[in-house]
Amino acid sequence: MSVILSIIYLIATVTFIVGLKKLGHPDTAKSGNLIAATGMGLAIIGTIFIHDLQVPTIIYVLIGIAIVIGSIIGWLIAIKVEMTKMPELVSLFNGFGGASAALIGIVEFGNSDIKTTSATIVATILSAIVIGAITFSGSLIAWGKLNGSVKSVVKIPQYNIINNLVIIAIIAASTYLVAGSIDNPIFLYAILTAGLLYGILFVLPIGGADMPVVISLLNSLTGIAAAITGVLYGNMVMLVGGILVGSAGIILTVAMCKAMNRTLFSVIFGSFTASEGPEGTNKALGSIKSTTSSDAAIMMNYATNVIIVPGYGLAVAQAQHVIHELEELLVSKGVNVKYAIHPVAGRMPGHMNVLLAESNVDYDLLAEMEDINPQFNNADVVLVVGANDVVNPAAHNDPSSPIYGMPILDVENAKHIVVNKRSMKAGYAGIENELFYNDKTSMLFGDAKKMITELVAEIKNM
Ligand code: NDP
Repeated sequence: MSVILSIIYLIATVTFIVGLKKLGHPDTAKSGNLIAATGMGLAIIGTIFIHDLQVPTIIYVLIGIAIVIGSIIGWLIAIKVEMTKMPELVSLFNGFGGASAALIGIVEFGNSDIKTTSATIVATILSAIVIGAITFSGSLIAWGKLNGSVKSVVKIPQYNIINNLVIIAIIAASTYLVAGSIDNPIFLYAILTAGLLYGILFVLPIGGADMPVVISLLNSLTGIAAAITGVLYGNMVMLVGGILVGSAGIILTVAMCKAMNRTLFSVIFGSFTASEGPEGTNKALGSIKSTTSSDAAIMMNYATNVIIVPGYGLAVAQAQHVIHELEELLVSKGVNVKYAIHPVAGRMPGHMNVLLAESNVDYDLLAEMEDINPQFNNADVVLVVGANDVVNPAAHNDPSSPIYGMPILDVENAKHIVVNKRSMKAGYAGIENELFYNDKTSMLFGDAKKMITELVAEIKNM
């Protein structure tokens, strides 16, 4: 029996690795997802049915009911969720992963006699509970922030000190339990509560443009929590799956920190928080110049080089298909067109790549920030569609700005800049954007899908 299970786990582990590799490119991502999901399904079936235990039928019935309910809920959420809401979903899933690890830890603590269980096992159980609890509450706060139900930045006085005290208390209480000095379950629930509190305190003050880093860090913690429960049960596939999620999450977190010129330390310990967002405050930035779709169309039609900068607003407007139509139209007229992709444009890592792949934009036309930045000098027109923070020169010019130091797309170096958005409202970081007041900038106000459709119609008539 156990040989068959080991083979199943090995196959599942290989599918996770192959799946992860294939997720690295839009062309292979779908099949990668399917392969890894099949492996996971196999591992679940193997774990439920292949063992030497005497399991009463009622347990199988209960597991079956839980799987059916979970699958229906997951399936309904997955088919309903909009692309712009994906980060919220990812946050929720992270939270559920953390909650599972914490619950497993609590159950296993109940199953063990603290005086006789080895210190290593107690430490493993406590790690699952603490990391799981932090991931759960932190992810719920991140979810609330992303969907707007939690105020973007909640300032807690001296929260660094409070956070550190909570962590010290968790370590002290855990040490007592691991040493077997105390076997009162109240201690365990106090540790659980402190973990939940730490998750809340950790995410609440983080704001502005730093949320992507936090989400990928929480994702990584979910993986670590799963790996710990794998250790607890001596379950290889849980361990490897958890390690893969944990390490992929950490790699992504570090890459995002780099993209935003943050250190992981400064994000975790909250040196970077957004200032209160001045939605469209009237700083003395000068005046703006608005344009029409016909004027913008003329500019683009007669350009040699056009760079399109997609942002969150493009996703909201679902304008990915029409922007592809615009790009094809311009190319057919001899214009060189490229898309400039900022690593944190949109609301999740790779958001713009996924969105544009959905409308079959040629992957070769997508240029990463480091590659495209030197090319803005040669661009006749830059069309910014629903992007704001990722093109905000305050990142270069304003040391007091919450996004100061974050690398941005240097669109201001282009000859002409057309910015499409609906109003003068701020982006995610809640700050003014002096680019809109630049002499070279023309504002094309309106919903992205509507305005790009108008641009296409105008250019077709030329
Ligand atoms: P921003 O959120 O800075 O700006 C988006 C702009 O789109 C808004 O200013 C809005 O202006 C405009 N917009 C909204 N709806 C429409 C529409 N229908 N048509 C046209 N325009 C529209 O987006 P960016 O992509 O520039 O920057 C991403 C931000 O999100 C960064 O701060 C990043 O850190 C953060 N973030 C990124 C995550 C990631 O993993 N990538 C995750 C979480 C946050 P208006 O309302 O006037 O139309």
